[in-house]
Amino acid sequence: MIASTQSNHPLGGVKNFDRIPTSLDLACARLKSAGLRITQPRIAILETLIKRDHPASIEQIHHELTSDACDLVTVYRCLAVFEELGLVRRCFFHNGTSLYEINLNDSRHYHIVCRSCGKVERIDVSITDGVERMLRERGYDQVTHMVEFFGVCPACRKKAAEADPVSTTIAR
Ligand SMILES: [Zn+2]
Repeated sequence: MIASTQSNHPLGGVKNFDRIPTSLDLACARLKSAGLRITQPRIAILETLIKRDHPASIEQIHHELTSDACDLVTVYRCLAVFEELGLVRRCFFHNGTSLYEINLNDSRHYHIVCRSCGKVERIDVSITDGVERMLRERGYDQVTHMVEFFGVCPACRKKAAEADPVSTTIAR
């Protein structure tokens, strides 16, 4: 009688599923429930996105694909499909590039980009929920937003201070 406990599982329809679903399983389940085919390029791109823990550009994703079974245009098309589905999120950085990252649990987070070395760090804080709610109350639908933070990271500050201790001290 334990069979009924499986019914609410996102992969309940998958037979012989006797292990904890991986991120890739969950992503494929999202594709399936949207009526999309699970193709080899789609799996390869999802694997690459899951493996990374930082947003990546289309070129980086293409470069990191283990199989060379798909070209840049295919990567671009797949990401557009994933984005529409909410499976990936697109972030824009100060130089105008859009970077993609996997979005499996719909977690709201932002990024801080170091202006000096370009390092991207994740900030797990929600700051825009109130704004989105207010816009919905005003009758807006399909509200999205882009928020990125820029600064100089501690490592770069330390390096700058070591290179030029006098001016850094004065600047304080
Ligand atoms: Zn830095």
